[in-house]
Amino acid sequence: MTARAQIGVTGLAVMGRNLARNFARHGYTVAVHNRSYAKTASLVADHGDDGDFVPSESMADFVASLARPRKVVIMVKAGAATDAVIAELIPLLEEGDIVIDAGNAHFPDTRRREAELKAHGLHFVGTGVSGGEEGALNGPSIMPGGSPESYEWLGPILEDISAKVDGVPCCTYVGPDGAGHFVKMVHNGIEYADMQLIAEAYDLLKQGLGASAQEIGEIFAEWNKGDLESFLIEITADVLAHVDAETGNAFVDVVLDRAEQKGTGRWTVQNALDLGVPITGIAEATFARALSGSVPQREAGRVLPAESGAWEISDRAAFIEDVRLALYASKVVAYSQGFDQIAAASAELGWNIDRGAMARIWRGGCIIRARFLNRITEAYERNPELSLLLADPYFTEQVGQGVGAWRRIVAQAALNGVPTPAFSSSLAYYDGVRAERLPANLIQAQRDFFGAHTYQRIDKDGVFHTEWTGDR
Ligand code: NAP
Repeated sequence: MTARAQIGVTGLAVMGRNLARNFARHGYTVAVHNRSYAKTASLVADHGDDGDFVPSESMADFVASLARPRKVVIMVKAGAATDAVIAELIPLLEEGDIVIDAGNAHFPDTRRREAELKAHGLHFVGTGVSGGEEGALNGPSIMPGGSPESYEWLGPILEDISAKVDGVPCCTYVGPDGAGHFVKMVHNGIEYADMQLIAEAYDLLKQGLGASAQEIGEIFAEWNKGDLESFLIEITADVLAHVDAETGNAFVDVVLDRAEQKGTGRWTVQNALDLGVPITGIAEATFARALSGSVPQREAGRVLPAESGAWEISDRAAFIEDVRLALYASKVVAYSQGFDQIAAASAELGWNIDRGAMARIWRGGCIIRARFLNRITEAYERNPELSLLLADPYFTEQVGQGVGAWRRIVAQAALNGVPTPAFSSSLAYYDGVRAERLPANLIQAQRDFFGAHTYQRIDKDGVFHTEWTGDR
């Protein structure tokens, strides 16, 4: 077998198949392999016209068909399957070859695998790929980690097949070992927050105005023409306009209100707790999905008294604008928190991640693509060390214009008994981070009282402990 393929893909379910087609459409000779041959055969039979595929039944033939340094993209079920494929590949590969895991791996697994493959003289590139099956085929956002040397070989190919915004590829080198999968994880966490905020806005418009799904869809379509323009707002308008073929009702009205999750939101929150970074928007969004699925609790909870008022909205247009401004402000908080988490992990693990570049590669191809990511890139270009995205002059002004609306919405939601965990916690974060003085002074005093945990003072340097004996 001639070793002529420029890149190989093993794992040809929906994602791998589309990624392989994307490579082929860009003129690359693509080696293709799947555990069971049927998927390989159907790819070549159905899409042979896309370009030059080299199918193999065995992993050995697949590896032998690749030109060196070999570049093998693994696109299998994340977890044990990835380890199984890596174990199969290692004895077949040679020093300098590059293994790319493009699945949704947890970044500690990527760090472990990178160290293992390095010991065999192999490069391991954990790569975030966002955009679902459509993105994989037509241009995803790609977040590769691993060694800078591997990016020299791989970068041009990945940039070639990635989405482009203003001619700029939505792919760049993220950082060493697990940095790529870490950034993809936070991307997914932000996606959770974004979706929850949109869902809360929908609920407020529904309950506050008594608006139909169709009407709310029209509001979202209008919002998509302004600062909120994004893939998620756009599809929300489409989803709300969709009619259920079976009943003729609005589609969302026949969907059960239980949100599921695959785990990346949970990983993001777990990591934020480890790092001590408050990502309240993402955490509340993750817990909101958990609450929606807490069936026994929700059944038991129906007896709880509400003591809520009745909505009194005299100016519908003003209310809609308030919801829009609250949504925008809360969204900025979620991104600000997510970028804090990236900065904290990058500092702790020595990854040196360029946050502005991350915002740039999220502008296209991925689920959180949005107009305002340009503004985030600009903010980090103005100040690469920016410690709080919210405090960038552009965002301070933009969010500042909506603070009154934000407070009105959160207050009205509370008064009327509508749960808005992401809107409310984002406003609480905003007020917390801008506060001159937080009540943490009392917490430190309490800790010193019961546990001699010490405290610092505002009037002199040092660490102090008070002998509390006799105070009770
Ligand atoms: P998937 O359903 O997650 O996995 C199916 C593929 O994994 C099949 O090719 C299957 O081979 C292979 N596989 C499973 N166990 C294996 C094992 N022990 N050894 C070898 N191969 C094994 O596929 P997917 O939806 O295309 O996703 C692929 C990866 O991309 C996942 O990590 C996923 O999390 C990630 N991802 C998915 C999306 C999405 O929208 N679907 C978006 C971004 C990222 P057989 O055909 O032989 O069973």
